[in-house]
Amino acid sequence: MSSDSPISYAPTDGLTYDPNDPRYWDPESLQKEVRRTFEVCHGCRMCFKFCDSFPDLFSFIDKHDGDVRKLEPAQTQQVFDSCFQCKLCEVQCPYTVRDAHEYQLDFPRLVHRWQAQRLRKDGLRFRERVLGDPDMAGRMGRASFGMANVMNRVGIHRWFMEKALGIHRDKLLPDFASKTFESWAVSQGLVAEPPGGEAVLF
Ligand code: SF4
Ligand code: SF4
Repeated sequence: MSSDSPISYAPTDGLTYDPNDPRYWDPESLQKEVRRTFEVCHGCRMCFKFCDSFPDLFSFIDKHDGDVRKLEPAQTQQVFDSCFQCKLCEVQCPYTVRDAHEYQLDFPRLVHRWQAQRLRKDGLRFRERVLGDPDMAGRMGRASFGMANVMNRVGIHRWFMEKALGIHRDKLLPDFASKTFESWAVSQGLVAEPPGGEAVLF
């Protein structure tokens, strides 16, 4: 395909949202789908208001004079990194698989596919290792005997955290509690004997 030819909105032969399909893990197949999806979104622009992904995407496309082929890998990565999987775009989008539309878009699942390939290739990033393990962060916070809470209010430390973990320096962080919720509940006699049950809060 010439670099000037229009990009079709129709699904490419790389379309799949199924990790059990070998094409799911093929970088070239994914790239075709990313390009096509970005082209459809560029022509639509309805999702500018939900998160940073779409404003970033549209500003990158505009910087490249509307040519989605010119997006650099780092720009694509930034677009997908800004997605926190709220699914609002999928609900809003008139072109989805769920609506049986011929374009078969599913932006959040495209993000999943991109991140799955990146993870398989490069492994977890430092930020993902730290923020993906809140139990470990809690253990470290408690082991610091309050120092972590003090440091979280020190400017230079927050600057470092912003650079290393991507947590904005002005974000108000809750203090680490001195004991876990579980040990507090035990101390209050609030934990029943097994078999008991498990509650998951989201
Ligand atoms: S699912 Fe991701 S890309 Fe879609 S609106 Fe939510 S955060 Fe943005
Ligand atoms: S996800 Fe759908 S509704 Fe949102 S900008 Fe893309 S094409 Fe438009």
